[in-house]
Amino acid sequence: MAFVNMYNVEIESRRDNEFPQLKGCTYVEHIGATLYSKSQIEAYQQELLSNLYGNPHSRSESSRLSTDAVDQIRFWLLEHFNTSQEEYTLVFTANCTAALKTIAECFTFSQPLKDGEKAKDALSQMKNSQSGCFCYLLDNHTSVQGMRECLNDKTSAILCLPESELYNKDISKSFILAQQDSYNAGNCLFVYPAQSNFSGRKYPLSWIEAIRNQELGFQNQFTGNWFTVLDAAALVCTSPLDLGVHKPDFVTLSFYKMFGFPTGLGALLVKNSSAALLKKTYFGGGTVAASSATERFHVFRPNLAER
Ligand SMILES: *Cc1c(COP(=O)(O)O)cnc(C)c1O
Repeated sequence: MAFVNMYNVEIESRRDNEFPQLKGCTYVEHIGATLYSKSQIEAYQQELLSNLYGNPHSRSESSRLSTDAVDQIRFWLLEHFNTSQEEYTLVFTANCTAALKTIAECFTFSQPLKDGEKAKDALSQMKNSQSGCFCYLLDNHTSVQGMRECLNDKTSAILCLPESELYNKDISKSFILAQQDSYNAGNCLFVYPAQSNFSGRKYPLSWIEAIRNQELGFQNQFTGNWFTVLDAAALVCTSPLDLGVHKPDFVTLSFYKMFGFPTGLGALLVKNSSAALLKKTYFGGGTVAASSATERFHVFRPNLAER
């Protein structure tokens, strides 16, 4: 009882000191967005006011300070998810939505035919490649649903599956939103949330390995090289994510869900061995080493995070 009382006093005083914005309120949207604390906002302000942070892409002392801070934070974050830059690259994005959109825009579904392999029909002859399918769990954020609109003409099929269908060898046609070809190959993408933002349900991380090995029933009809996007935005606000154990090809998240602040920052974690599957077209800002205004010439920076 004494412990409970002390605990309550501690919580109450922390609430008063750290979350003055909660005065007179009961906040039950923690899973949607956790709250920023007073000391966090003050420390951030202090940091900006006592250091000269410049544009991270130029050659000056203020620029180097920004670059070093970004690199340091990237290092801490990889450590937080129990991985390192040897295995994963952390790309900062505007939010989780932007990370998912980047994958939709850049993922290569097609795979050039191997030497000696014959195209199966006129269509694939024309494309000279085979495209994989895009599959997402029914219980996903709208930002995952939206991915399908970017890649409609890049995939052989688009599937939306409820959990119960994942293990079925013969999924109903009604789960197939689009189908271009009668065969499938190439690179396939499966997207699911580590935790549902809607129901709070945590989905098995063992699916990552099972998907890669094509062990789930529905994959029977959709063969190819399978890759996984783990939408970890909801999970990481209250649970650890150990990338030393489970290794999705891509992980997306947002920092306001973890820390309440800032809202305009998220991350795309890319497993280095799958990085070659992301091919950028748009370039801008410091993502290129060189570009020309008068000729269609540009060279992306070699480092994935900078690119
Ligand atoms: C919040 C959330 C998103 C979207 O995050 P934004 O940073 O707002 O783009 C995506 N997926 C899940 C599971 C979420 O909880």
